[in-house]
Amino acid sequence: MTDKVLMVGAGLSGAVIGRRLAEAGHSVTVMDARDHVAGNCHTRRDPQTGVLVHVYGPHIFHTDDAEVWEYVNTFETFLPFKNRVKTTSQGAVYSLPINLHTINQFYGRTFRPEEARAFIETQADTSITDPQTFEDQALRFVGPDLYEAFFKGYTEKQWGCSPTELPASILKRLPVRFNYDDNYFFHRFQGMPEGGYTAMVERILDHPGIDVHLETAFDPADAGDWDHVFWSGPLDGFFGYELGRLGYRTLDFEEFRSTGDWQGCAVMNYGDRDIPYTRITEHKHFSPWESHEGSVLYREFSRECGPDDIPYYPIRLVAEKAMLGDYVARAKDQRNVTFVGRLGTYRYLDMDVTIREAMDTAAIWLEARQAGQPAPVFARDPL
Ligand code: UDP
Repeated sequence: MTDKVLMVGAGLSGAVIGRRLAEAGHSVTVMDARDHVAGNCHTRRDPQTGVLVHVYGPHIFHTDDAEVWEYVNTFETFLPFKNRVKTTSQGAVYSLPINLHTINQFYGRTFRPEEARAFIETQADTSITDPQTFEDQALRFVGPDLYEAFFKGYTEKQWGCSPTELPASILKRLPVRFNYDDNYFFHRFQGMPEGGYTAMVERILDHPGIDVHLETAFDPADAGDWDHVFWSGPLDGFFGYELGRLGYRTLDFEEFRSTGDWQGCAVMNYGDRDIPYTRITEHKHFSPWESHEGSVLYREFSRECGPDDIPYYPIRLVAEKAMLGDYVARAKDQRNVTFVGRLGTYRYLDMDVTIREAMDTAAIWLEARQAGQPAPVFARDPL
């Protein structure tokens, strides 16, 4: 039997789940309030310069998951891309993530790997045995000088609070390397979609069983009109924010233009607290195989997300986690809704993890459907 299924949101979750369900013979409708697909990884060709712009900030694809890599390559050509981030701090430019070059430049030394490791160990606070906070994690692994130069100011700007209030897990996203490898990610597969993420998502959604409606908001009160609803909007938004708003950071992008090459790399971070933005991205460098005379850049500012702003980073501190628990309990009363993706599960998800979870969610749903069982409200526990 064919189910009438609705995907709320045409981002990665909605597209990947929608495609799998359509391939299994179900009738899929995708609604998105915006006028484009691909959610926050939306890319657009700038009409003036021809540069492919990452409209909601930089998205670089990296994964260790061979199946996810194969999946994205089915729908778009991925060209090799390594994210080599630089940071400006205290009047100098350094290489990130912290690597042997950063350490040697910062301390004016010529350390070899084991010498650098031993030196950093003399800087590190070894009395911290089980780091819980972002600051503890930094002091334990790189010591106060590198922490102040590269992490403290940046993190205060990015998260709007002291690194003593943030969990160590945020810093664990970044490696410290005692060699000259300056690749920001250590995943096996890395690349950029040649035609952009929007072209990829459009192809995922291009299936006779899928009907896409843009600029169409969905009222959760209408969930009963569908056999099943996959909600990739904000979890609290589904319930009209009746228990309060889950905290997010939002981003403001101040666009500016130039000719030629303005900064020489895709991403330049700014570690100093007195520079109000966290980073500048020069979009043409995300497609290094293209050549454009003009250039489009974003200065990126982070701030607390208000009711009319686009939510980016879930904050997930103690207070937010308590509220999340209340929303999760409420969600579990739903009969025909599954909450998916970064906003639907209130987690800081990279694109590859979002796709992996979407594939798994579709498989679990199809299996449950086959067995005549109710589908899970969350494929993975958001807590
Ligand atoms: N971070 C930092 N300095 C930097 C880059 C990152 O302190 O130059 C911290 C910051 O708190 C950030 C976290 O490390 O939120 C994770 O960085 P990542 O680059 O993964 O952040 P994203 O690209 O997802 O914003």
